[in-house]
Amino acid sequence: MEIRVVGVVGAGTMGQGIAQVALQNGFRVVLRDLEDRILQQARARIERGLDRLVEGGKISDLQKAEMLRALSTSVALADLKAADLVIEAATEDFGVKRGIFQELDKHCRPPVVLATNTSSISITKIAATTRRPDKVIGMHFMNPVPILQLVEVIRGVETSAETAAVAHDLAKRLGKITVEAKDFPGFLTNRILMPMINEAFFVLMEGVGTVDAIDNVMHLGMKHPMGPLALADLIGLDVCLAVLRTLHEGLGDPKYRPAPLLVKMVD
Ligand code: NAD
Repeated sequence: MEIRVVGVVGAGTMGQGIAQVALQNGFRVVLRDLEDRILQQARARIERGLDRLVEGGKISDLQKAEMLRALSTSVALADLKAADLVIEAATEDFGVKRGIFQELDKHCRPPVVLATNTSSISITKIAATTRRPDKVIGMHFMNPVPILQLVEVIRGVETSAETAAVAHDLAKRLGKITVEAKDFPGFLTNRILMPMINEAFFVLMEGVGTVDAIDNVMHLGMKHPMGPLALADLIGLDVCLAVLRTLHEGLGDPKYRPAPLLVKMVD
């Protein structure tokens, strides 16, 4: 099936970025969230993102206007029935994702691939909430989506080779480069990244260093573009905690125990 309309569920940090990149690459986008207020904010942020491209001479005003016309927003999941592929980027919580996938399965045409941008939750478990587990796949974009090139592709146990090919092809059409990871908690990206962020919270909690010292060690010392605490703020502390809990529970290893300071800050 030719993909022309991309459905995006969740208009937060990631949903906005995915929607913007899809618009930039000629797709129509249907963006869904729970409230109009959130959707209006998302539209304004996408517009600001496109403005930056106009300012940088990458697109014209006319192209920007066309891209914004190709964006429709809705609070009704049923409006995603127009989508040729859906990317779910809602809150990192299995209960939330289960509800969304069950609804998507009802409303979307049978051949439609349902992708999830989850950072850590089992693709197999999400797929099992639908009657089309062969068409469910992980497409894990990086934050900020318009800037970072990687998409981690994760197949669940029942994901078909055809679905994987669709995901790789779409990522390529969005100007991204893919890597494949197996369906284990945190996949590759967060299995490696989150323990570093968690350790930064532990050393902060223990008073080993200040926020600046901790971030500078990695930023200046290891040439990371930003320190782990600044990165945790960019990702969202709630997302970091949800991912660490999935790693801890899914792998059963105390080394993934979330730092109590991180828990307290999210509380
Ligand atoms: P966010 O909190 O910024 O946005 C989540 C959005 O989902 C919110 O606007 C919320 O209202 C909406 N939502 C909740 N339930 C919904 C429902 N039933 N239907 C529609 N929308 C619903 O979160 P985010 O940072 O954009 O993360 C979204 C997903 O992307 C998570 O699975 C997260 O793990 C993953 N992710 C996040 C990052 C990051 O750096 N933040 C990076 C890669 C992947």
